[in-house]
Amino acid sequence: MNLSPPFFINNKDFDDKPKEACGVFGIFAPGEEVARLTFFGLYALQHRGQESCGIAAFDGGNVSLHKDLGLVSQVFNEDILLKLKGDLAVGHTRYSTTGSNNLKNAQPILVSYKNIKLVLAHNGNLVNATALRDFLIKKGHGFESTTDSEVMAKLIIHELSNGKELKLATHDAFKQCQGAFSVVIGTNEHLIAIRDPDGVRPLCLGINTKGQYIIASETCALDIIGASFVRDIAPGEILFINRLQKLDSNFFVPSIKPHHCIFELIYFSRPDSTFKGLSIYHFRKELGRQLAIESPIEADYVISVPDSGTPAAIGFAEESKLPFSEGLIKNRYIGRTFIQPSQMLRELGIRLKLNPLRDIIAGRRIVVVDDSIVRGNTSRKIVKLLRDSGAKEIHMRISSPPVQWPCFYGIDIDSRDQLIAAKNNTDEITKFIGADTLKYISHAGMIRATSLNRETFCTACFSGEYPINIPSELEGAKYRYENYEKITKN
Ligand code: SF4
Repeated sequence: MNLSPPFFINNKDFDDKPKEACGVFGIFAPGEEVARLTFFGLYALQHRGQESCGIAAFDGGNVSLHKDLGLVSQVFNEDILLKLKGDLAVGHTRYSTTGSNNLKNAQPILVSYKNIKLVLAHNGNLVNATALRDFLIKKGHGFESTTDSEVMAKLIIHELSNGKELKLATHDAFKQCQGAFSVVIGTNEHLIAIRDPDGVRPLCLGINTKGQYIIASETCALDIIGASFVRDIAPGEILFINRLQKLDSNFFVPSIKPHHCIFELIYFSRPDSTFKGLSIYHFRKELGRQLAIESPIEADYVISVPDSGTPAAIGFAEESKLPFSEGLIKNRYIGRTFIQPSQMLRELGIRLKLNPLRDIIAGRRIVVVDDSIVRGNTSRKIVKLLRDSGAKEIHMRISSPPVQWPCFYGIDIDSRDQLIAAKNNTDEITKFIGADTLKYISHAGMIRATSLNRETFCTACFSGEYPINIPSELEGAKYRYENYEKITKN
């Protein structure tokens, strides 16, 4: 099966939210149907990547791997899961941030050296992948994909080929990596979790009722299989789990200064996942409260852009003492079709995704809360939809500061050209989207809403302050290896 991804996923007319890179999942559970558990784990992580997905299972020294383009529910069925036998499984769901969306770039990646087979699944982006890839090519390693994830896998193979055993080879490979990487690796003998020293992307350890360990991008993937959260994988940690469920933790850098992606709290993570013991839902409500304190407005209703804007809208409404109501109903299944819309349906644009509740909106002063504005096209369409539905006033409130800078740590914003706030001030954006007023939460307000220190977070896409140095050639470089291959072949 080789399907195109759902039609709206890459269609900027319908959806201009930033895209999270990937979700990863791993389980070492002898006696359990590990592929089936991984399937459900990936199902819970589907929001982190909707272009391709895959599961690899180890049965002794044999590895079965199935990966394809499409959503988890479309790529896997009973027959496929039954063929993925074993004690240990690693799964991945992907949105492309390095390399284009094709089957070769789907994960997990399978590599081998002598009798060692290894599968790797990665969330994040290496900032020094080009240099590492150049080095590996000079050493005679070939590449099948155009992803930085294969660079990591081949780096381990390179260290193994230098005569190191697996733990040292993995340790020495990841010491050379710079950027954002939350990684799950499976071998015949170990499940391995690795997180970059800044802890940019989330990665957690869970345990099932039989005392078997699970690694997942977010806690929601533990909940769905009845497992409990144990702890986060620490920034800079490399954790080996063996067949007896013994944990062996080491750090591959001497000092750790975490910079967690604050956009995970604002938008990327699922609201029922947790961060530092509190639900993401809690943080989003606090962002809404803070926004209401900073930018109050008289109105009849507070509505949200569903679903990601809803917790902040509830927080805004509570703080403002205004009624919250649903005002835009999301067509939840539109993203699950592979049927292309006709031209006439395409022209309806945002209406394919959102349907207004006219009896709530008509003649009313409406506050619309959303989590972010990236290109501005969707906000403009939402405002028009509300005007066409008879709204008297439309006040947009955004629970993140203006997105002005690209992200090089695993999000699909690699150039300032894509960002309306990089070139326009708030008045200009208000005019562009057609709202009566537009206000963003302040940078200080965003931090205050977390009740944590500014230093805890990466806020680079709002502030331009990058915690991990960025090589200048990276801007606009999602497809850098495709270009690289063209250059080296010519
Ligand atoms: S630049 Fe923005 S999206 Fe990227 S890691 Fe930092 S806060 Fe997250």
